[in-house]
Amino acid sequence: MDERIRSICIVGGGTAGWMTAAALTKVLGPEYARITLVESDEIGTVGVGEATIPQIGIFNRLLGIEEDEFVRRVNGTYKLGIQFVDWGRKGHTYFHPFGPFGVDMEGVSFHAFWLRLMQGGDPRPITDFSIQSAAADAGKFMRAITSDPRSMLSKIAYAFHFDAGLYARFLRELAEARGAVRQEGRIVEVAKRGSDGFIEAVVLQDGTRIEADLFVDCSGFRGLLIDGAMGAEFEDWSHWLPCDRAVAVPCERVSETTPYTRSTAREAGWQWRIPLQHRTGNGYVFSSAHISEDEATAVLLKNLDGAPTADPRVLRFKGGVRKTSWIKNCVALGLAAGFIEPLESTSIHLVQSGIAKLLTMFPSRSFHQADIDRYNRITAQEWEQVRDFIILHYKVTERSDTPFWDHVRTMDVPEALAEKLRVFQTHGRVFRENEELFNDTSWFAVLIGQLMTPNSYDPVADVLSLEETRRRLDQIQSAIATSVDYMPKHDRFIADNCAAA
Ligand code: FAD
Repeated sequence: MDERIRSICIVGGGTAGWMTAAALTKVLGPEYARITLVESDEIGTVGVGEATIPQIGIFNRLLGIEEDEFVRRVNGTYKLGIQFVDWGRKGHTYFHPFGPFGVDMEGVSFHAFWLRLMQGGDPRPITDFSIQSAAADAGKFMRAITSDPRSMLSKIAYAFHFDAGLYARFLRELAEARGAVRQEGRIVEVAKRGSDGFIEAVVLQDGTRIEADLFVDCSGFRGLLIDGAMGAEFEDWSHWLPCDRAVAVPCERVSETTPYTRSTAREAGWQWRIPLQHRTGNGYVFSSAHISEDEATAVLLKNLDGAPTADPRVLRFKGGVRKTSWIKNCVALGLAAGFIEPLESTSIHLVQSGIAKLLTMFPSRSFHQADIDRYNRITAQEWEQVRDFIILHYKVTERSDTPFWDHVRTMDVPEALAEKLRVFQTHGRVFRENEELFNDTSWFAVLIGQLMTPNSYDPVADVLSLEETRRRLDQIQSAIATSVDYMPKHDRFIADNCAAA
């Protein structure tokens, strides 16, 4: 018996909805199933200026998107990592780069050798051994031009900053060209089958009824299907992630575009700065228990590097996740599935990863519970790992200058994170577990950047003599300097390859 899913209804046309439509039409092809996307112009989308992580390149390649065209279409710039200002302590700055620090030697992690030298008095920060960090400092960018692992130029990992609204429009074109049908209208009712509680149809204000075998809920924070119709429980993480508001405002672009996102810690949260080709996106993510919306807006407006080009807009949210993001024939993606503040630019990635998992576990009309359970288990694990990495930025800090920082610095953290911190404390070691998104370089960058000092270095770093270790680190540093000299300025690279019209 043919049990193939014949029709899919995607509810919502924000970044999540159009990413889903573009990916499903590309992978399944036009004949597999009828794909309808419902969105309401009246309701609109969240889309603020967005920063991403390198995995988005994989998603774009899957869709057959050519990189220069993509950057041009979304007014994009390149991102080599995130600069964190005032996080570990006021006046202190560090960089979380994409791509590795140095090179592993004798099968031992580079971090171990660096830590050994550092603890012996070497003053060079770990970021001196990252090509991303050095290029970011110099305002330079270039794509990797060799795959030779001995060359520093093979180690340039990067992501993008882009206008999320333009990205959704671009994906819409692709999805529609591959057969997806867009339906404008406001959903006012979700009809469920009496026999088994599966969703049968969504009904629009004008009475149009859209039936489907599979529903993907990309309706944003309201979670119209997963919460409204299926009653998925929400796991509230606000005791670890107390920020529950953001005020966002774009401003004029005034200087050369930086090839990195900046995150500046403020009295009750943090401020992002995301450079695009035509403007700079800014926002203050804050805890409303510690600062009012008006005060946060005033702080943001005082800390822009150009005149604002729109009115500030406040967004409200709660950090947390649906306990089950797939129930019966409804899968939630994007903000409908949950929200982790954008400190490490993970939301769009979690959409991408959800789509990949959905395709891996793609259902037949029988909707086997074992597949659904597995999807939910892996999804929950992935979100928790990202959550812990974000909590790390708040927990490991010397700041106690405001009630907000005092609260996050002293709060209890999830046991998995507490264990990671204990392990790091002894010998400065980090382990990447269960294919977690952030690798040991990321953990090391943030732990050291937030000023956590291990008691001693990994004893395995003694495989090289001190002289040999120093000699090799000198070599790496000089190779990075030579490579960065060779790289063009970020703006030059964009002008030559992918400037928006
Ligand atoms: P939305 O954009 O809210 O889209 C919801 C869609 O559902 C809309 O099309 C709406 O019309 C439709 N809809 C809702 N109800 C109905 C209805 N009744 N009938 C018909 N249609 C309906 N992510 C990153 O990766 N990097 C970042 O830097 C980043 N920064 C962020 C900053 C802030 C302050 C916030 C809040 C989020 C940020 N995100 C970031 C997250 C990112 O914006 C979202 O994950 C992403 O845009 C996906 O949103 P969405 O498509 O799930 O929801």
